[in-house]
Amino acid sequence: MHLKSLTLRGFKSFASSTSLRFEPGITCVVGPNGSGKSNVVDAIAWVLGEQGAKALRGGKMEDVIFAGTSGRAPLGRAEVTLTIDNHDGALPIEYAEVSITRRLFRTGDSEYEINGDSCRLLDIQELLSDSGIGREMHVIVGQGQLDSVLQSRPEDRRGFIEEAAGVLKHRKRKEKALRKLDAMQANLTRLTDLTAELR
Ligand code: ATP
Repeated sequence: MHLKSLTLRGFKSFASSTSLRFEPGITCVVGPNGSGKSNVVDAIAWVLGEQGAKALRGGKMEDVIFAGTSGRAPLGRAEVTLTIDNHDGALPIEYAEVSITRRLFRTGDSEYEINGDSCRLLDIQELLSDSGIGREMHVIVGQGQLDSVLQSRPEDRRGFIEEAAGVLKHRKRKEKALRKLDAMQANLTRLTDLTAELR
C-alpha cells in the first residue's frame, strides 16, 4: 500500500485544482517558506478524517477553505481526494485503488466518499484502522513534534504501537460492546424489578 496521489481544490492556499503524484519510496516536497508545503501535509491529515482545527493549524474548521487573496475571491468549499494504491490488499476493500474524498462547505456541511460513493466518516476510519493510518493520526509527525513523540509516556507510546499494529480498532469495538452489555444489564435489572412488582 502506498499513497498514489493527492488532489486539492479550494483547500487552504490551493485555490485551483492541484494534483500531486507520489511514487513508491520517499517523497520530498520542497519550496520557499510559506509556499504551502505544510498545507499538503494538512490536506492528507484532513482527508483521512482529522477533526481538530488546531491540528490543522487553524482556529476553526472553516479555515481550511481558501480564504481569498488580493487577486482572487474566497471559495465556498474545500475538497481533497487521496488515492491509495491497494494492490497488496492492505485495505479491506475489493479495489486495487482506493480514493477517499472529503469536502467541506462554508455552511458547515461535510461530505465523505470512498471511490466516489458517499459514506460516513466512520466508514473511512474503519477502512483505514488496520492500515496503521488510524483516527489518532500518529503517522503524521508535524514540525517540532518529533521530540514529544520520543519523550512520550510509555502508555502513550504503547498507543502509537497499538494503532500501527491495528489493535486499537478492536479495543474500541470491545469498549463499545461492553457499553452495550452494561445498558442491556440495566434493562434486564429493570425488567426483573417490573416482573416482581406485577407478581
Ligand atoms: P514553511 O516552510 O515556513 O513551514 P510552508 O511551505 O510549510 O512554510 P504553509 O504553512 O503550508 O507553508 O502555507 C502557509 C501559507 O498558506 C500562508 O501564505 C497562508 O496565508 C496560506 N493559507 C493558509 N490557509 C489559507 C486559506 N484558508 N486560504 C488561503 N491561504 C491560506
